[in-house]
Amino acid sequence: MKNKTRGALVLLLAAVFTLGACSSKENEHTSGQEPGNRDKDKLHVVATFSILYDIANEVGGDRVSVHSMVPIGTAPHEYEPLPEDVKKTSDADVIFYNGLNLEGGEEGWFFRLLDTTGTDESKVFELMKGVEPLYLSDKKGHKGEINPHAFLDPTVGMKMVENTREAFVKADPDHKEEYEKNAEELLGKLRDIDRDYKTKISEIPQERRILVTGERAYQYMAKTYGLEEGYIWAIDTEENGSPAQIKALVDFIRERDVPSLFVESNVDRRPMETVSNETGVPIAHELYSDELGKPGSEGGTYTDFLEYNIRNIHDGLKE
Ligand SMILES: [Zn+2]
Repeated sequence: MKNKTRGALVLLLAAVFTLGACSSKENEHTSGQEPGNRDKDKLHVVATFSILYDIANEVGGDRVSVHSMVPIGTAPHEYEPLPEDVKKTSDADVIFYNGLNLEGGEEGWFFRLLDTTGTDESKVFELMKGVEPLYLSDKKGHKGEINPHAFLDPTVGMKMVENTREAFVKADPDHKEEYEKNAEELLGKLRDIDRDYKTKISEIPQERRILVTGERAYQYMAKTYGLEEGYIWAIDTEENGSPAQIKALVDFIRERDVPSLFVESNVDRRPMETVSNETGVPIAHELYSDELGKPGSEGGTYTDFLEYNIRNIHDGLKE
């Protein structure tokens, strides 16, 4: 499988270098750059998915042109890079990935892309560097898979901003002050959001602080702010909503006073609708998990995405 994919990527690379950059995706997912016009004054940045793309734009400001690979509407765990992604990765000054296994881990699509493009690792930055991993299951004392969704926790977001700032300062030390200033602005917003999470959760009675979602994406956030988690499946890459998974969640809900259920914006709603019908607990709101909302929507930036989630969680769980 790995060799087959690599072969396909090599072919892609050859095609890209023959044809040159020409793509309709360019305007939509690349900031700060006229199509086909490489601006020599800017840092060329590639981010694996929408959340890192937004943070890179905020911290980089006018100094960077950022390309996002996994489009909104596609989960970032598994992805087939397009010719444009391969070309931009080959040309990039700075490349950001989440890490914590989000992009499929060391055997996953992102490391295969780096391998194929022969990218120098000094250009590659993991935004979860320094974040303590949490594991999806801990049955019988064994650690399961690392949960990659740490970015749903605003305190982790601060770490990601700091890592982004360090990467830009390293790649472009002449503009250090600008990156530091932009990062400080975004950190200030995240500190406000962290306070808002604490306040809103403190307004929810203790016995109602239970967050039920489809995927177990909110583990870091729930741990930081003191929510109990219920979920149907542990991660999107496994079976989503088998009868056994649904029964386990229905049993969990019957043992507790769960006020309402939530469903992520990018998953099939039907398993949660079945849980709702079985338990009589309503689905209150959608939440964002693996990706930002479409540009201009309520969750179109990382800070809006975090605020959207806590507003809806508060509304669904408060009395
Ligand atoms: Zn996910």
